[in-house]
Amino acid sequence: MTMEYRQLGRSGLKVSALSFGAWVTFGKQIGDLVAEKLMHTAYDAGVNFFDNAEVYADGRAEIVMGDILKRSGWRRSSYLVSSKAYFGWEDDKPNQTGLSRKHLYEACHDALRRLQLDYLDLFFCHRPDAETPVEETCRAMHDLIVQGKVLYWGTSEWNADQIKAAYEVCDRLGLHAPQMEQPQYNLFHRSRVEQNLAPLCKSRGLGTTIWSPLASGLLTGKYNAGIPQDSRLDLPGMEWLKGMVLGADAPKRFAAINELAAIAKELDTTLPRLALAWCARNPHVSTVILGATRPEQLTENFGALEIVPRLTPDLLRRIDSITKPVAA
Ligand code: NDP
Repeated sequence: MTMEYRQLGRSGLKVSALSFGAWVTFGKQIGDLVAEKLMHTAYDAGVNFFDNAEVYADGRAEIVMGDILKRSGWRRSSYLVSSKAYFGWEDDKPNQTGLSRKHLYEACHDALRRLQLDYLDLFFCHRPDAETPVEETCRAMHDLIVQGKVLYWGTSEWNADQIKAAYEVCDRLGLHAPQMEQPQYNLFHRSRVEQNLAPLCKSRGLGTTIWSPLASGLLTGKYNAGIPQDSRLDLPGMEWLKGMVLGADAPKRFAAINELAAIAKELDTTLPRLALAWCARNPHVSTVILGATRPEQLTENFGALEIVPRLTPDLLRRIDSITKPVAA
């Protein structure tokens, strides 16, 4: 498998088409040695972007990743690391969450300390914050860039109007503007990327670092026959996610998965590879962030890039006919 590198939107930054993130797994579901093996498997396959956030395992995911990076001996210039601020990691006292200047400043410095880095390559506003003026958030992110603590800033789960409001402030005040958005994107969750954000990707060169490309594992087909032990939806405390991933739509989703599996078989590939290739084929996707609990999952998933050129217009139309009604 040869890794492909894409520009992050219209920036000069090159990001691997497949990247690797720490949500649920690092500092929580998997041991630190497994986390290390996964990061090395990813890096050896050409992954150059590791995604993290203050809230992942309340900061522990960043501590685990920082220790692994420190031990790795990899050149700092060879990889990108992100953090995200909004949900907080300590408590929910006033100012410990949100997108105020105070929380963004503290969140950035806390992430740098945990990751043992001098700067973050990417720093995301993890959700929009209705209580903080967007101008305050834009100025705080701009200042972190000017101070050399952050190289590129972006948003996560902001809609196009919210991102446009940030562009308006940054253009008017001559500030560094958001460069990337991190939305959920998978065969069951399409409209934000394909309808809402696509015009901004085209007109402004907004990059996207998309999350949950396998819908938390659902699109591997592993949940069609029940919830396997040790899988994400089997974890204590993940009942909320089970409700979102399976929910009332589950029978329709399982039926769609069976049809997608048949297409994967025709292509002589696996369902996870087909589902990931489908995400990566979208030209507005800068990188598909993978999650994994075992190195074998990553190895399987890296094979997705070989499937992308085989997704012909005819095949994409067939996939549309399977997943569009489910997503609606
Ligand atoms: P996926 O939807 O790809 O789910 C990953 C999980 O699916 C794995 O942890 C594993 O879980 C299972 N899995 C993956 N590959 C396979 C395989 N080949 N066979 C069987 N099971 C497999 O991605 P994530 O939801 O983990 O999201 C990826 C990253 O995106 C996160 O780590 C995080 O960095 C980012 N993210 C960002 C969010 C945001 O709000 N900005 C929100 C969520 C994620 P298991 O083995 O336990 O079943």
